[in-house]
Amino acid sequence: MTATHEVTNQVPLPYGHDTAADPTLLAALHRAGAGWAEPELRGLGRLAGSEQAADWGRLANENPPVLRTHDRFGHRIDEVEFHPYWHELMRTAVSYGLHAAPWRDERPGAHSARAAKFFVWSQVEAGHTCPISMTYAAVPALRQSPSLAAELEPLLAATEYDFGLREPHTKRGLIAGMSMTEKQGGSDVRTNTTAAAPHADGTYRLTGHKWFTSAPMSDLFLTLAQAPGGLSCFVLPRVLPDGSRNRLHLMRLKDKLGNKSNASAELEYDGAVGWLVGEEGRGVPTIIEMVNMTRLDCTIGAASGMRYGATRAVHHALHRRAFGKALVDQPLMRNVLADLVVESEAATTVAMRLARATDLALAGDETEALVRRLGLAVAKYWVCKRGPAHAAEALECLGGNGYVEESGMPRLYREAPLVSIWEGSGNVAALDALRAMAKRPETVEAFLGELDAAAGADRRLDAAVAELRKQLSDLSDLEYRTRRLVESMALAFQGSLLVRYGSPAVADAFCAGRLGGDRGAAFGTLPAGVDTGEIIDRARPVPA
Ligand SMILES: Cc1cc2nc3c(=O)[nH]c(=O)nc-3n(C[C@H](O)[C@H](O)[C@H](O)COP(=O)(O)OP(=O)(O)OC[C@H]3O[C@@H](n4cnc5c(N)ncnc54)[C@H](O)[C@@H]3O)c2cc1C
Repeated sequence: MTATHEVTNQVPLPYGHDTAADPTLLAALHRAGAGWAEPELRGLGRLAGSEQAADWGRLANENPPVLRTHDRFGHRIDEVEFHPYWHELMRTAVSYGLHAAPWRDERPGAHSARAAKFFVWSQVEAGHTCPISMTYAAVPALRQSPSLAAELEPLLAATEYDFGLREPHTKRGLIAGMSMTEKQGGSDVRTNTTAAAPHADGTYRLTGHKWFTSAPMSDLFLTLAQAPGGLSCFVLPRVLPDGSRNRLHLMRLKDKLGNKSNASAELEYDGAVGWLVGEEGRGVPTIIEMVNMTRLDCTIGAASGMRYGATRAVHHALHRRAFGKALVDQPLMRNVLADLVVESEAATTVAMRLARATDLALAGDETEALVRRLGLAVAKYWVCKRGPAHAAEALECLGGNGYVEESGMPRLYREAPLVSIWEGSGNVAALDALRAMAKRPETVEAFLGELDAAAGADRRLDAAVAELRKQLSDLSDLEYRTRRLVESMALAFQGSLLVRYGSPAVADAFCAGRLGGDRGAAFGTLPAGVDTGEIIDRARPVPA
């Protein structure tokens, strides 16, 4: 090799790590009473940190799915072909129970355990987590029709990934999708025009056009359509009980900003056969059960992306030198890295708190159900909103290398806005928090009770909660002020959790930089006196 080809000062490949060696995540797992899941989580973490899994993610994205509408003789087939590594990602996710498995798991903290695994595995590749989330989320909606749930739930919860279009009951495991959004309205689903006509055999025939239906090779979809009694929820299999294809035609796949490994389709229902879920006319309250679970996953997914970004940034800064020092020793870079880690830990903590609230609410805890109702809308808005800015800053820590595809950072950056759009775009998520407070004022009490559990621990948090109480009692221009109000609620929620459960250094930096008024708009503007060494260490990748 000639001297001109000597490579110096480039960082080692970021593989061979245990992605689950994440102190914030592990502490939250144990707090949720799900310590029993740690060995499995660590196994998944080692796989997630491997070069092999990174290759699965890279190649599934570099070889996006291809739509095959017809076979070579002109018959409609409506299929999507995926790269084999997409299937590896799906198989792993299903075998570790990241999909509907917790609905059949009696162990304490089953949903928290699943949330932790979802957090770890999403760091490999976010696209395939879309069908995994939708399969998870379909179960509570299906339970509105106990006989349908009894039939389908065991197959949705099965830990076997059985790809291919076959009649659902003949498969060893099922994947579910969601088909709500139409051209004229996604947020306002009441404008849906797809029609559902009752059929003599008790099923319905659906006719209409859906504008975004991701994971179109799923075995079944939950969908909304206008029945005689009003907007209603239906389940439609891709293959009917007689083995024929249901009349769900894939028109085209979306050419998306990111999320490339995953297919998102425009879909036409041409007299497709559907089964009613819940009651006619109660479509929104039925499918909202599904939407709430996917909102939880949007929050976990955004937090997971931040952890990936923060650990990649720290890894780079530990090994790259500039101006005579490792980057990690440059004071301004320490400020940026610490700020990224603080944001990431605040996001992880609140996401895992909401997973725990899910476990407890399902076990019948009414206060936890209220905290979850409001807390989820608040966190969905704020954590997802912070994702793109966090990804951009983490990418920049790698300099020019961060802008190059091989680093994985462009993929993170392109993916980041999605969770903020899906299942309630920013404004809609924030307005959902207002709706929760207006319709069920007891959610406010429960939420403030959660904040008060940290009272007296930090004066900056106490002041922020007092200020929030004032904001909440001001009813003027409420809708106009929603983002500001919900942001304040989210910051107080994160602060109260970090003060109680977080690393003292992270909690102090959060309160100083996010609640104390001493803040800049960009990352890397933490005030002096923060223990950056302790904070940065928490995102140092740990060898597997
Ligand atoms: C990659 C991807 C995958 C998707 N997969 C699916 C899927 O599988 N199934 C599915 O059903 N949908 C899916 N969607 C659609 C997604 O859920 C919708 O795009 C989303 O709900 C927003 O709806 P819309 O696009 O019609 O925008 P609109 O509803 O027109 O909203 C446009 C903007 O207006 C804002 N807005 C709306 N109402 C108000 C208001 N009252 N006040 C203030 N602002 C408001 C919104 O926040 C948004 O910023 C997917 C979208 C993407 C990008």
